[in-house]
Amino acid sequence: MSRTLHHYIGGKAVEGTSGRFGDVYNPATGEVTAQVPFAGAAEVRTAVEVAAAALPGWAATPPARRAQVLFRFRDLLYTHLDELAEIVSSEHGKILDDAKGSVTRGIEVVEFACGIPQLLKGEYSEGVASGVDSYSVRQPVGVCAGITPFNFPAMVPMWMFPVAVACGNPFVLKPSEKDPSCALRLAELMTEAGAPDGVLNVVNGDREAVDALLADPDVAAVSFVGSTAVGETVYAAGTARGKRVQALCGAKNHMVVMPDADMEKAVDGTLGAAYGSAGERCMAVSVAVTVGEATGDAFVDKVAQRVRGLKIGPYTDPEAEMGPIVTGDSLERIRGYIESGLEEGAELVVDGRDVSLQGYEEGFFLGGCLFDRVEPHMKIYTDEIFGPVLSVVRVDDYENAVRLVSENPYGNGAAIFTRDGDAARDFANRVSIGMVGINVPIPVPVAYHSFGGWKRSLFGDHYMHGPEGVRFYTRMKTVTARWPSGIRTGAQYSFQSGAEN
Ligand code: NAD
Repeated sequence: MSRTLHHYIGGKAVEGTSGRFGDVYNPATGEVTAQVPFAGAAEVRTAVEVAAAALPGWAATPPARRAQVLFRFRDLLYTHLDELAEIVSSEHGKILDDAKGSVTRGIEVVEFACGIPQLLKGEYSEGVASGVDSYSVRQPVGVCAGITPFNFPAMVPMWMFPVAVACGNPFVLKPSEKDPSCALRLAELMTEAGAPDGVLNVVNGDREAVDALLADPDVAAVSFVGSTAVGETVYAAGTARGKRVQALCGAKNHMVVMPDADMEKAVDGTLGAAYGSAGERCMAVSVAVTVGEATGDAFVDKVAQRVRGLKIGPYTDPEAEMGPIVTGDSLERIRGYIESGLEEGAELVVDGRDVSLQGYEEGFFLGGCLFDRVEPHMKIYTDEIFGPVLSVVRVDDYENAVRLVSENPYGNGAAIFTRDGDAARDFANRVSIGMVGINVPIPVPVAYHSFGGWKRSLFGDHYMHGPEGVRFYTRMKTVTARWPSGIRTGAQYSFQSGAEN
């Protein structure tokens, strides 16, 4: 039985009124499990108005009180961890352990945001001139909007709203229409934690809702996570209207395997990084760059054996290591890339296309695929496939590996597996990539550092969460104050330095 979902505005569920709906699937069975309303401009306007009405009160609430809401929210997230993971898995398809891990990574951002009184401490300079003091404070930017992708329906929203809300901003979240239920549950839990009505709102929808958010004059800042094609237009449209925008986008993450690497660890790392969550991660390793023919042979041989043994299954199967692809359309797109890799002459060492699971014949399953001898001009190399497909590019030396990684137009993550500290340090220093792993395949920064890539993986100036998140969701104000002290300076008509003032 398919449910009808809603929006969450002003602390309560609100029915969709546009008349437009989208299907939400259980990717393991292929069944439609829910209808999600697609908000039109009027519904988005209502959500932004409600958020704007909550702004003065929430911005004036002392940071320590705002933190108390987040402390309670954090406890509720742990209480409901299993439930949240199940919601994620049932609409996204990823296995439960992975879903739970992603919710936990989101909780870590909430824990970071609980420290907001400390994070908002300003700067003070006594005596910038005779009897004059100066101080800088960070104030909320206003109503913030978040637009999030399907692949992390709990974690990515929690990269955004806990920090924005801790900083004193009401938030309007537009989650992915493919797996919207988790965002609705998070908003309910925020209300239960004591967030005033209107502080966290969820509007469901597609492009129309995003366009309405970008056009709304009361939205001051927009955080986007999703594909590069969409993120680039969101950045352009938002900044053209004077909004602050951060758009974290697509990726093509390389992992360099040096001849001296611990091969077992490199292979273990590759399995999780390339095939975990069916490769639907912006930090997934999609290209392994093996240095030297012997390294390439050993690596491909070992990875192939392991990929053939990957246990594919629905999230309800505790033995499953990899779940289905999110939708039938995504599955078709990924299969198209496998065809194109074959046509362009890459060697398909493991072909996962013929996977079929009894009882789940209509599910969107694809086994792990491994291409060897991929060349940089092939589409499977240039495009983000966003599926369980790993390409091996063989190079003959370290310099060529560094060049390949750095010349890629995306710059989210890259890793190197080596025992050579010199090579590792040089790699970390020289590659044009935002997040680097040394013997760590998925170098996702912890919550109190910030997450973001370079080049076509991020448009904007600020990364997400950590200190960068606080900067994005606040604006600085600097006060210069003189109090009567009996010192008379008289009128001054020239602009003087502090010391001379
Ligand atoms: P997507 O770009 O299709 O969708 C992202 C969001 O934008 C969704 O909320 C969607 O409804 C909305 N949207 C889609 N088309 C739109 C349009 N034409 N105009 C306005 N809004 C639109 O991305 P996705 O398929 O949901 O997610 C996968 C992508 O997200 C991958 O490219 C992945 O690399 C990227 N991603 C990046 C990061 C990162 O931190 N860099 C993290 C997670 C995912």
